[in-house]
Amino acid sequence: MQAISMVDLKGQYLKMKDEIDKSIQTVIETTQFIKGPEVKHFQEELQSYLGVKHVIACGNGTDALQIAMMALDLKPGDEVITTNFTFIATVEVIGLLGLKPILVDVDAKTFNIDVSQIENAITPKTKAIVPVHLFGQTADMEAIMEIANKYHLFVIEDNAQAIGATYTFSNGKSFKAGTIGHIGCTSFFPSKNLGCYGDGGAMMTDDDVLAEKISSIVNHGMKVRYYHDRIGVNSRLDTIQAAILRVKLPRLDSYNQARQSAANYYNQAFHNISGLETPIVAPFTDHIYHQYTLKVKNGKRDLLKKWLNEQGIPCMVYYPVPLDQQKAFLRYKTEKHFPVTEELCQSVISLPMHTELSDEQLHLITSKVKEFFKS
Ligand SMILES: *Cc1c(COP(=O)(O)O)cnc(C)c1O
Repeated sequence: MQAISMVDLKGQYLKMKDEIDKSIQTVIETTQFIKGPEVKHFQEELQSYLGVKHVIACGNGTDALQIAMMALDLKPGDEVITTNFTFIATVEVIGLLGLKPILVDVDAKTFNIDVSQIENAITPKTKAIVPVHLFGQTADMEAIMEIANKYHLFVIEDNAQAIGATYTFSNGKSFKAGTIGHIGCTSFFPSKNLGCYGDGGAMMTDDDVLAEKISSIVNHGMKVRYYHDRIGVNSRLDTIQAAILRVKLPRLDSYNQARQSAANYYNQAFHNISGLETPIVAPFTDHIYHQYTLKVKNGKRDLLKKWLNEQGIPCMVYYPVPLDQQKAFLRYKTEKHFPVTEELCQSVISLPMHTELSDEQLHLITSKVKEFFKS
């Protein structure tokens, strides 16, 4: 049996090696490494997959969030509401731009921002809400858009972990995650559900004016070469990465289905273990399992982690520290408490999750978890 890893990019590559190798070779032959035709084609293909008017590729997901905030003209001192339980990038760019992160606790079941606490966090300085679609299921976008409309706030979706997931409104209309707010941001980091072979990211929007601004910011604030309209950045998707993503995008749905099958296997195996809580999916979204994350009850998380590591089963804790407690963010510290985030940081564990997990591997992983709870 193949050794088990958290992600298996090699196994995935081998299944489409010829296509990938050829697409990379083509870029090398044309030598259009920056802004080659593959980038434009990929943007168009992703637009049509997501059902959104504009996709603008950039250097990585962190840049996407930063550029989105720049495009919305957020100014130092403006407040941005987001979740305390996410990858650091979401909050880091808020701080980097001199904006003030206002953190909100999460829902204990879905791990996404607790929408019932957003209104309390709004002040006259609030300009935007950044929901994160954590681990592969979307936040409650209908509630978030209602609040945003009521208070005239922008919504930037951090969709780095849920590309391909679908959100359904109460009127039955469905949209792809990342296309509901004013701007959606995503990452093509290799281990993401749609990953390239290096760094990459993108923003998506239906707004023509915002799209034009974003396109200018990613490229030194210029539209006409060497005429700079605004201060921008250098953040582009390499042509080689775009070529790779064009091979992988048509496979995204089947990749997400493979993750869902693995998650179903785990759910079946764990449903009667009282010491574990399997992932809970909100009714308005599907789950594409960027991570398969369990809650371990009775303070046993670290013991389970140690046990699995001893058995050669990889596992990870996403995330071990609430962002408000990170050293980098101490300057924003308030009296506010985040009981759910704090509990999750102590109790969550993520098991191997990727597109190449075999039944044999899943059997071994689940048996070892079961063994732990038997003793
Ligand atoms: C991965 C990730 C990012 C950042 O993406 P990079 O491409 O690594 O910069 C941002 N937010 C979340 C939630 C992520 O998981």
